[in-house]
Amino acid sequence: MIRLAGIERKFAVGGEMVHALRGVSLELAQGEYLSIMGPSGSGKSTLLNVIGLLDRPNAGTYELDGRDVTGLSDDELARVRREKMGFVFQFFHLVPRLSAEQNIELPMVLAGIAPAERRSRLERLLADYGLADRARHRPEQLSGGQCQRVAIARAMSMGPPVILADEPTGNLDRHTGQEVMALLERLHRDGGTVLLVTHDPEIGARARRRLRMIDGAIISDERAPELTAGLAAERTAVEQRERGTSGT
Ligand code: ADP
Ligand code: MG
Repeated sequence: MIRLAGIERKFAVGGEMVHALRGVSLELAQGEYLSIMGPSGSGKSTLLNVIGLLDRPNAGTYELDGRDVTGLSDDELARVRREKMGFVFQFFHLVPRLSAEQNIELPMVLAGIAPAERRSRLERLLADYGLADRARHRPEQLSGGQCQRVAIARAMSMGPPVILADEPTGNLDRHTGQEVMALLERLHRDGGTVLLVTHDPEIGARARRRLRMIDGAIISDERAPELTAGLAAERTAVEQRERGTSGT
């Protein structure tokens, strides 16, 4: 579904060229769960932004569902992004002035979804993410974990097949981070393609497929054969905790 070949991304910074992606090639099938690890500055976010159509490569080809998207206009790119990509960021990127429900609703407003349909999706998302009693709160009135749940609900409001998460647990305590991971993994189990950037090896190891980047290049691409019994048990425990505490 996603096929990158020879992707280059360079940034001009004060007369110098920063080579953020160097000839990156990658194929991803629908429903994969991929983690991207590597030191700071190795190009992880740049790669995620290119895949998520937030950024354009300087060279190379990007095929999404069999279609070359490198030549699309900005408007077309925005439309494809709205339909196919859901983003979750380290610092949530919520609109501070808007309530939780207004933040979740925003992509649906931008996509021109009718109010009644918006309302019904919104109710379901608020319930699914344990946010019903926080709907009118603004981000500053929410905990970090609640903010990230709002951000995930917002990402899911358009039902995107691809979920891109850039250090989604980087600003959360360990327990809340585990809850957020359980939510992302639930999306994967429901058939979503999940791309997860993390610097936490324990979290990165949860993904079936693991990329490592150094200096703008993919240096390894590993697939775990099977979930180990211990990891599966831990995951189940996290899911149970998440269900039990989803209202907090
Ligand atoms: P990572 O997410 O692995 O920490 P990034 O993809 O953010 O790395 O950055 C890769 C390199 O590209 C870094 O050297 C960074 O400074 C540079 N870079 C990323 N985005 C920009 C930008 N918008 N302008 C200039 N340089 C950038
Ligand atoms: Mg980054």
